[in-house]
Amino acid sequence: MSAIYTTDEYGRPFIIVREQENKSRKTGVEAAKSHILAAKTVASILKTSLGPRGLDKIMISPDGDITITNDGATILQSMKVDNQIAKLLVDLSKSQDDEIGDGTTGIVVFAGALLEQAEELLDKGIHPVRIAEGFEKACKIAVDHLDSVSDVVPWSKDDTSNLVKCAKVSLGSKIVKKCLDQFAKMAVDSVLSVADIERKDVDFELVKVEGKVGGELADSSLIYGVVVDKEFAHPQSPKVVENAKIAILTCPFEPPRPKTKHKLDITSVEEYKSLQNYEKNLFEDMIKKIKDCGANLVVCQWGFDDEANHLLLANKLPAIRWVGGPEIELIAMATSGRIIPRFDDLAPEKLGTAGIVRELAFGTTNERIIIVEGCANPKAVTLLLRGGNKMIVDEAKRSIHDAMCVVRNLIRDNRVVYGGGAVEIACSIEVSKRADQVSSIEQYAMRAFSRALDSIPLTLSENSGLDPIEALSELKSSQVKNGNFRLGVDCMSSGSNDMKEQFVFDPLISKRQQFLLATQLVKMILKIDDVIVHSGSQA
Ligand code: ADP
Repeated sequence: MSAIYTTDEYGRPFIIVREQENKSRKTGVEAAKSHILAAKTVASILKTSLGPRGLDKIMISPDGDITITNDGATILQSMKVDNQIAKLLVDLSKSQDDEIGDGTTGIVVFAGALLEQAEELLDKGIHPVRIAEGFEKACKIAVDHLDSVSDVVPWSKDDTSNLVKCAKVSLGSKIVKKCLDQFAKMAVDSVLSVADIERKDVDFELVKVEGKVGGELADSSLIYGVVVDKEFAHPQSPKVVENAKIAILTCPFEPPRPKTKHKLDITSVEEYKSLQNYEKNLFEDMIKKIKDCGANLVVCQWGFDDEANHLLLANKLPAIRWVGGPEIELIAMATSGRIIPRFDDLAPEKLGTAGIVRELAFGTTNERIIIVEGCANPKAVTLLLRGGNKMIVDEAKRSIHDAMCVVRNLIRDNRVVYGGGAVEIACSIEVSKRADQVSSIEQYAMRAFSRALDSIPLTLSENSGLDPIEALSELKSSQVKNGNFRLGVDCMSSGSNDMKEQFVFDPLISKRQQFLLATQLVKMILKIDDVIVHSGSQA
């Protein structure tokens, strides 16, 4: 009986539906399998996007915005995923993105393959906890093996050719591959110019990526300075300020205005004029103060009206208004200036300095930007990306971010493993070899783990139009025969399987993170044996 019929104090009948009836429940293997199905569905969506020949996806948001990308994290984040377990996969790719910035598709494909393998083991009647233990063991072996198949990419500040090559691998599967050399160089130069080589750290806050629709990808450039998405307040003010001394204001900069709560009685034209004059004089005073301080440019977080604008032009003080908070901070950082929160705090030593501040116009469009170059503190740089439409500019932004992450990872740790599935095959061989030495039931899970590793080279060859099984078996046998762990899938049909020759690397830390995070998630999913879903209110 699902409901109890009863009556209230007036004798009117009503129904009590028992709480339990509002829940749907799955337990044991049934629960694990339903999770696996959900996660597999998500992974299968990403599979075709893996690798240099991976296909792009087009995503249309509820308000019609279009995104084209083959970046795993972006695809998953733009999908509306309802299932809780599928959401975990979305988070998985996001953690890889946050931590490493690359390998976001690979991690989901690998986690999907692990779950697929787990399903088969569950069908064989192996307990989920034993599967989880086996996976854990296998993951440790694979991660340890990464060290022995890793290589070092030498680079220095003067010889960045290897870094450029690595950036190219990352960019090679993206829309920007048209301008591969240029983008790879931009990624390396931008990261190196803000990197702290001693501490092996890179602060991405100092690299601003600004996209502007118009022109083409090849018009993109790296600017050693800050780009502000604004224009000089007055259309007639000079478009270039050399040897700029900048007053960076976060306080209002305009003639004082009577507030609404003030009462002001104006009874004659003269009084009105004198009020006007008073305001004008006060503002001119402010301008004079700024000029006396030595500033020849004002950057202000607030706006000022036409009258103020006119007075600024008349007094030959160029100004930029409505500059956002983060940009103000970036300008202050780059020009070694201090942000001035109260007009009275103005002082010569607080001004920022820059070699040149200029306004840039884009062809026939109305769009303009301000570039601050030759700054006192040249650490902050801006990547100005151009492209025919918003979709291309957005994808270019994502792609260059990935490439910058690759370069940053190499600066942090220059050990790499070979890509194109080579490292997965090497680890798969090792794990399956070690499984033979295990006598307990975990050996099945370990072999399953090794098969899941194979899914990466299999997917890469499938996406490149090769016969996946044939390609994998050939690679595996030659890796075993020659002990050459550099052999991977020749996705670009270059004629060589040696990934060292093709310069296809993945940072060691990225691969390690992929293995660890994916295994951790799969273990977690396997350990859930009860799902209770509230289906909401029921009549
Ligand atoms: P992710 O988002 O996981 O980085 P990608 O679509 O960038 O996904 O594909 C990365 C995979 O493609 C890695 O396994 C990498 O080794 C492989 N790969 C990249 N370039 C090549 C190439 N030129 N030849 C073979 N494999 C490649």
